[in-house]
Amino acid sequence: YLLAIAATGCLGAGLLVALADAGRDSTRSDSDEAVSPEGSGKKKVVILGTGWGGISFLKSLDASKYDVRVVSPRNYFVFTPLLPSVTSGTVEARSITEPIRRIIRKKDVKFHEAECTKIDEANKKVMCRDISDVKCKGKEDFELEYDYLVVAVGATSNTFGTKGVEEYCHFLKEIEDAEKIRGRIVDCFETASLPHLSDEDRRKLLSFVIVGGGPTGVEYAAELHDLIYEDLTSLYPELQKIVNITLVQSGDHILNTFDGRISEYAEKKFSREGIDVKIGSRVLGVTEETISFKSKATGKLMEIPYGMIVWSTGIGTRPVIADYMKQIGQTDRRVLATDEWLRVKNTDGVYALGDCATVEQRKIAEDIADLFKLADKDGDGYLSVSEFVDTMDNVRMRYPQIDLYMERQHMEGVVGLLNDALKKEKNVKLDLEHFSEAICKVDSQMKSGPATAQVAAQQGEYLALSFNHMAMGSPDEGPIRVRGGGRHRYHPFRYRHLGQFAPLGGETTAAELPGDWVSIGRSTQWLWYSVYASKQVSWRTRALVIFDWTKRFVFGRDSSRM
Ligand code: FAD
Repeated sequence: YLLAIAATGCLGAGLLVALADAGRDSTRSDSDEAVSPEGSGKKKVVILGTGWGGISFLKSLDASKYDVRVVSPRNYFVFTPLLPSVTSGTVEARSITEPIRRIIRKKDVKFHEAECTKIDEANKKVMCRDISDVKCKGKEDFELEYDYLVVAVGATSNTFGTKGVEEYCHFLKEIEDAEKIRGRIVDCFETASLPHLSDEDRRKLLSFVIVGGGPTGVEYAAELHDLIYEDLTSLYPELQKIVNITLVQSGDHILNTFDGRISEYAEKKFSREGIDVKIGSRVLGVTEETISFKSKATGKLMEIPYGMIVWSTGIGTRPVIADYMKQIGQTDRRVLATDEWLRVKNTDGVYALGDCATVEQRKIAEDIADLFKLADKDGDGYLSVSEFVDTMDNVRMRYPQIDLYMERQHMEGVVGLLNDALKKEKNVKLDLEHFSEAICKVDSQMKSGPATAQVAAQQGEYLALSFNHMAMGSPDEGPIRVRGGGRHRYHPFRYRHLGQFAPLGGETTAAELPGDWVSIGRSTQWLWYSVYASKQVSWRTRALVIFDWTKRFVFGRDSSRM
């Protein structure tokens, strides 16, 4: 509560600072700068992308030490965790975007609003194209050379090749997506209010389907429910009874990367509120009128008409990354593999972070298996309880992120072994088969990596500090590991998991914080408000977001369709 009060207290100060600081939003219109003269002798760093990874890198980089250029098709940063709130009008789109030129104005950095179309590994160049509406005819394409390339282009939505998804579903990745969804919801209500429609037509228009029961799908479902039942039903009272929200999830539970208590609470809450959660269901296809899916348990086929579908299931590869992977022999992957210093494998001077990359973890899985084997000093396949606990502590200390992946499915098995041993006052059987199975699963989950802003931001900061460090030593010195001795000049990247939130609507949020601490309820919602206000990239957006939340409390959400 104290945090919440502090955050709300930011409003006054925030507004003052923002008014003094804001000026006009230059998200598209700022004037361009002259391109800096060549030959400064500085190493050329090109950053692709202005999302969580790219901006975090830029903010911590000592740009005076390098010739820095940023390339991105959007000239702003988006605070993605609040995108679901934009779909319902709880916050406005411009409140969660910050112009790049505002972020870099005090740094010696050039920004180019363009898309990178190809990375030329052999010649250390990137090909770029202006894809904005205003172009200089015949001069859309240009090239930039680099000494170091930082790839932070994020990912696309993954449709898993499901028929009709690209054509008929909405995605929730970009600010435009959120605004389109907001407009479409209201459009469905307005069309359903036309006088000549049948009840069947109205039911179809007001059938909202969300595919994907991860944090984004669940948060969007909660926002949609709040928008409809807190604001729209009083404006369209005759339609209240025929609205339907369906959440389709292929896994056995929604929010299945969260603690079981949170998944269970969310499922019960949604079912109480009339959100139809179809777990264990795989979408077969989408047509202009209907979505069809199949229950994995019963094999039953279902088909429902819809007014709008939001598709939110995992991440896919951007074309520029797929092409680059071919050049460097990483074809059988979804994202770029890097080592623990975020260097892209088989390349020279290329680093990747965020959703388009994953730290190759095979080594970690092997290390963990080795730690257990080493602890079994007499080689009899058993560890004493204290040896077992010490080894687990050792694993956790080295790889704090392990809990994130291991806890739910495998920790239970590990804890079971331990309890058994304690009960029987025996040693713990070092069931390496169990461990290797568990570790392989952990390993494969780690490979795909949690695609979160937290990871991208920590990687960006880590890499910038490494670059700052590199600039102080020999310019050619890259992060290297002295093999054998286990020492290295640059610390490898280690992810610190700071917890995760799942807003569930109706002023209720669930939080899972480090130390297995789970909290669900209204007070957690205030914690969510405080954390998200404090995490804003500038005082301007912080003030705007707090203002939007306050506006929503006082006047409700705006249902006009622009
Ligand atoms: P992004 O932030 O996606 O940035 C990619 C950048 O690359 C963009 O600027 C893009 O314009 C640019 N780009 C794309 N193609 C090119 C190209 N060819 N050339 C140059 N630039 C290019 N994570 C959390 O931790 N907590 C949350 O609550 C949370 N909520 C989310 C809600 C939603 C709706 C979504 C979509 C994501 C959410 N995430 C959350 C995940 C988080 O947003 C991503 O993990 C994070 O954005 C990844 O950062 P990134 O820098 O890799 O990519």
